[in-house]
Amino acid sequence: MVGTGLEYGIEMVSTDAAVGRLAPSPTGAQHVGNARTYLIAWLSARSRNGRIVLRIEDIDSPRVKLGAAEQVMEDLRWLGLDWDEGPFFQTQRLAVYQAALKKLKAVELVYPCTCTRADIERAASAPHLDHEGPPYPGTCARRCVADAEVLERRGQRFAWRFRSASGPFCFDDEFLGQVSVPAQWCGDFVVWKSAGTPAYQLAVVVDDAAMGITQVVRGDDLVPSTPRQLQLYRALGLTPPRFCHVPLVVGPDGRRLAKRHGDTRLSTLREAGVSAQELIGYLAYSCGWLEKPKPISAVELISHFDLRTIPREPLVFTGRW
Ligand code: GLU
Ligand code: ZN
Repeated sequence: MVGTGLEYGIEMVSTDAAVGRLAPSPTGAQHVGNARTYLIAWLSARSRNGRIVLRIEDIDSPRVKLGAAEQVMEDLRWLGLDWDEGPFFQTQRLAVYQAALKKLKAVELVYPCTCTRADIERAASAPHLDHEGPPYPGTCARRCVADAEVLERRGQRFAWRFRSASGPFCFDDEFLGQVSVPAQWCGDFVVWKSAGTPAYQLAVVVDDAAMGITQVVRGDDLVPSTPRQLQLYRALGLTPPRFCHVPLVVGPDGRRLAKRHGDTRLSTLREAGVSAQELIGYLAYSCGWLEKPKPISAVELISHFDLRTIPREPLVFTGRW
């Protein structure tokens, strides 16, 4: 089924069935690390007879690469990870995110922020802990929604920032158990960028709710985002999914798999003659579902799936198995 996702309203239709999702950002080629997370997400839903939604997270426009969405879908098909709904493209769902922003404005849970990234870096006392940058020092927090009109009249650019509770936050994770996110990782966060587009935090919440996602499986680099998203669910009156953060794949130096570790793109492995079954077998072995790596398809793994056997440590990928 191909659709724009516009048919999904913001009020979710509740069903009892498990619904998982694959939510790639088309910002470049997918590598072995992405494949492992997608495999876990896919098997988790399929092992419960669940459905899979494919959502292309293409609103991060400066980083989105032309043709990358098609490449992601080709990689998923090659891996044998299919989907029942989508692809839905976030860039075609802007009206839905606008409606959510309007709700947040109506209850004064957002305010216009004119700070630049450099302003925030300068004012921040804590080090840069995740990809969102340092916690926001609250410079614009005294503003109210109506102040946006004045800024607009002056032609001043601003983002919309959510008034966060102060933390620390706790949530229950299906893989990690009870997770505590320290207060210094929190702070008011952007839900609408000054460029006029929704921020990841808002789009992901609106979409997961609208698409009826019951379980979010993703890399544990997104743990700090979860308390932000849980606050948005509450503010928008939406039901959150269950979260399941799984370890990332790292290079031999312990850092997240990236270009510096050589070419681990799925397309490169494929061109080098590696079969999807070989890669899936290696990943399944790394998750504790096989005693040794052997070629196997994703479908054949459905009956082997078990979240509890996945090691807690990141998988170190050396490029060979
Ligand atoms: N699009 C994000 C990524 O590829 C995933 C976001 C999420 O799973 O919540 O990193
Ligand atoms: Zn500000």
